[in-house]
Amino acid sequence: MRLDSSIASHDKVLALLSDPSPKRWQAISSYIFALGWSGQQGTDGRIPMSALPFIHATTTTARLLVKYGLWTENGTGTGWNIKNWAERQQSVAITEEARARLSTAGRKANCVRWHGEECGCWKNESESA
Ligand SMILES: [Zn+2]
Repeated sequence: MRLDSSIASHDKVLALLSDPSPKRWQAISSYIFALGWSGQQGTDGRIPMSALPFIHATTTTARLLVKYGLWTENGTGTGWNIKNWAERQQSVAITEEARARLSTAGRKANCVRWHGEECGCWKNESESA
């Protein structure tokens, strides 16, 4: 997953940290934990209610993130979405495609290096090989 290197000075982050709620630091922590959790789980920014304990969040901190536009409610009352996830992260599908392309490129490079230009065995190996 990618973390914006300027996250500490984002308008929305600064607005959240100006909130009088004593939960604001837990909220911003859980925002960052949620980025990691969603990246690890491959949910493309979706945070189900059941994930809150794993990202040290509560419905109170979730409300704060929604208030400052960092999360949106998913519309069915079962969780949230990290706002602009798709813009900030490569979608999981693209990442997997890139990984597959990279491994194909790696096999091709090794084949050409060790077997020569004429071999072409890299085309026949499965992705998992
Ligand atoms: Zn080869």
